Amino acid sequence: MFKRKKIEGFQVKISICKDVLEAIFDECDTNDIDETGGRIVGYYHQSGNKLNIKVCGLIGPGHNARRSPTSFFQDGAYQEAVFRKIEAEHPEIEHLGNWHTHHVNGLDTLSSGDVETYERIVNHEKHNTDFFYALLVVAKGRTFYNRERYLVKHFLLKRGESLVHEIPSAQVKIIKEAAVFIDKAKAIEGVSIKETLTDLISSQPMLDHIRARDKEFISEMYTELKPFLSKQTKSLYWRGNLNLIDNSSVEVFVLESINKRKPSYSITLSASSRHLFQCSQLYLKRIFDSAWKAVYLFERDLNNEIFEKIKK
Ligand SMILES: [Zn+2]
Repeated sequence: MFKRKKIEGFQVKISICKDVLEAIFDECDTNDIDETGGRIVGYYHQSGNKLNIKVCGLIGPGHNARRSPTSFFQDGAYQEAVFRKIEAEHPEIEHLGNWHTHHVNGLDTLSSGDVETYERIVNHEKHNTDFFYALLVVAKGRTFYNRERYLVKHFLLKRGESLVHEIPSAQVKIIKEAAVFIDKAKAIEGVSIKETLTDLISSQPMLDHIRARDKEFISEMYTELKPFLSKQTKSLYWRGNLNLIDNSSVEVFVLESINKRKPSYSITLSASSRHLFQCSQLYLKRIFDSAWKAVYLFERDLNNEIFEKIKK
């Protein structure tokens, strides 16, 4: 078992946008059998032994998340792609940690498996911050002491330390400020495919048309890219390998966003190859009216870059 102690000489203050907390509770309402959760994003400020964390966004678990009453694995690749999109608009945003639920299994603290995972993350050389924040939903229902829909606990792990700090609720404040980003990718169970498809086709003919053309072109030209549908958000993403002119291949994600019934698409490389191509930075800010165009132009620019390198 891991050790636990009160924070001495180290002060953590957490503020959470009300919208974010409500979105977490909404997600809990739809998952009362299996564990669920997601990524927490926001800002932080650290000076000396004081750390202020501001939680102002959420990323859903993603279509390929696996869940059971006692475990929960998120779709990291999907979340990474969504994070890059938020980052393009809010460069200061950071991945602060994760949230997940235990009220479904009665365990009122982090499991040893949770702690092991978080320790691995916080000590990883590529982890951006020196801490990892974990919000845990431990019980359902309002009590005399808790006016919210669920009871939550807050934990913090630090790089190079094998301790789990539990942050007392007196150091946690709920603020009215609007959330920066809430990804509504919710539980994918419980929605029948038939219902989703009918909905897609009858209410959004333009979307259906764009997707059909994307599917036709991408399946023909880029056989390793596959579509995934988030049944709750009814949005789609493509994921898979793109083969380049030097016989290398890179993993790409194409994310669909729907605004006023009009879809738009963005494309990004997976984290492992993003640093290899300059144009990947540029593409974080580009929006396309179809997925096929995003893939086609991105592929062309990636190949151009390879070609320029070979010429030199
Ligand atoms: Zn857990």
